Amino acid sequence: MASRKIRAGILGATGTVGQRFLQLLENHPQFEVTALAASDRSQGKTYAQACAWRLPGDIPAAARALPVEAPEPPLDCDFVFSSLPSDSARDVEEKFARAGYPVVSNSAAWRMDSDVPLLIPEINPGHLALIEPQRRSRGFGRGYLVTNPNCSTIILALALAPLEAEFGIESVTATTLQALSGAGYPGVASLDIADNVLPYIAQEEEKMEREVRKILGKVSGAAIDGAPLRISAQCHRVDVTDGHTVAARVRLARPATIDDVRRVMGNFSGLPQQLKLRTAPERPVIVRSEQDRPQPRLDRDAGGGMSVTVGRLFPDNVMDFRFVVLGHNTIRGAAGAAILNAELLLAQGLLDSAAPASSSVPENAGRR
Ligand code: NAP
Repeated sequence: MASRKIRAGILGATGTVGQRFLQLLENHPQFEVTALAASDRSQGKTYAQACAWRLPGDIPAAARALPVEAPEPPLDCDFVFSSLPSDSARDVEEKFARAGYPVVSNSAAWRMDSDVPLLIPEINPGHLALIEPQRRSRGFGRGYLVTNPNCSTIILALALAPLEAEFGIESVTATTLQALSGAGYPGVASLDIADNVLPYIAQEEEKMEREVRKILGKVSGAAIDGAPLRISAQCHRVDVTDGHTVAARVRLARPATIDDVRRVMGNFSGLPQQLKLRTAPERPVIVRSEQDRPQPRLDRDAGGGMSVTVGRLFPDNVMDFRFVVLGHNTIRGAAGAAILNAELLLAQGLLDSAAPASSSVPENAGRR
């Protein structure tokens, strides 16, 4: 007998990331979208009425007539993806977790809480060990919070993880060139960005610096011991629609040749590839040797938008090595990342269709 799909809700469904969720979840074999929520500007309308769809192709047919609801439990789903702005995400996501819903969040609100996994399934699947202590100490019952990192952070971390594992990393500098879609819609005013580069994105440098250490850290009891590397980030908004570029320099803890670095990056693979998760790219890190790659228009869709592309890999005169890494910010950096997280949670037995009913759930419902 075919098992039924797990029902997903999307909080922030009308936004830039919310639209990507719907696009990537259309025809997903394990998840079906059954509930949508957004701000009071959209509530009470159907999705087709509320959403100014800005991706190629049409709104997925199954979503058109779904009502847009308030981001409040109960919703008719087994778990929620969240792409709410950070200021509203903290309270809303906690309410859903407390009401028994697993929350797979893309927002910054909970990323740095010590008991909340900041998950990149290829890098730190072991951080899911935080879920049980999180449930217990916060009294969430069946619910919990899992987050994915900031969009630039994910792209950089995928390139750093194989180096950290093989040689250790002492220090990193990272300079980003970030796409406009990273600011949501309508984002940056056209008169501010045309013919221009903006050297400031609120909170972005701080997020990259602290999130990388947590992602590469190790579970210690009910928290993560951050990786001891030093990292400095500078972030810029540029006139590119999709695809964040990061120029990085690294100093390694143990000696490596340029061939070693190329090999470990290009061979990098993890649990999602072993488990053949649907959204997992065959090669998480693609290393190119052409002198003028990676480029956003040419490389952002590599691996269905889930691979990052490394190029310009050379020894460096100041640090040990330098490279440029590029990835799709709303796919690998946002919706695709959260969907891969949910696929891993499902594979690990942490998502099921034992949904909270459309009313309140006893605190220990579904506790494992
Ligand atoms: P966006 O385009 O501005 O969309 C925001 C969404 O949240 C819309 O659905 C909006 O609904 C809803 N919303 C806004 N205020 C709300 C409120 N008070 N209560 C309930 N819903 C509310 O933003 P985005 O780019 O999709 O980003 C969403 C989140 O993902 C942010 O936390 C962002 O930092 C994070 N993120 C974005 C990217 C990216 O590349 N864009 C990457 C990684 C992480 P209405 O349409 O009704 O206003």
